[in-house]
Amino acid sequence: MSRKKEVDDRFKKFGTVSFTAISKTNDFIDYLEDGKVAGTKCRSCELVFFPPRADCYQCLQSDMEWFEVAGTGKLMTYSRLQFAPVGFDQDVPYCIALLDYGSYKVFGRIAAELPEEQLQVGMEMTTAVNRLPNGQLNYVFKKAD
Ligand SMILES: [Zn+2]
Repeated sequence: MSRKKEVDDRFKKFGTVSFTAISKTNDFIDYLEDGKVAGTKCRSCELVFFPPRADCYQCLQSDMEWFEVAGTGKLMTYSRLQFAPVGFDQDVPYCIALLDYGSYKVFGRIAAELPEEQLQVGMEMTTAVNRLPNGQLNYVFKKAD
């Protein structure tokens, strides 16, 4: 009888180009499918991680709980890309940015429909799940209402 182990490769659904199929934080994809962007928090020392981590470098425990990246973050900085890595070349120009959520920061892309002229460092933004035309999932930053 075969004892073939099933491979959990949910992570291959992430991003324009998926760089990995297997991760210790595959639940991240389930949250995205559910319309949520999630990070992890160490139950032992309460350190917060985004992108999510399965292991805490501070206390060396692996007891994590998930939390939703909700509410607004402040736009700390952004950059307009004119050249992009292989696989992203059809998307240029686009803007990458960093949002400050207080106890953690989120790095990602500005929503394509939001013109760069409307970006202002310090403005409040939200992080939203985005489904790409090819069915892949990622998240983008949008202007807060
Ligand atoms: Zn910890």
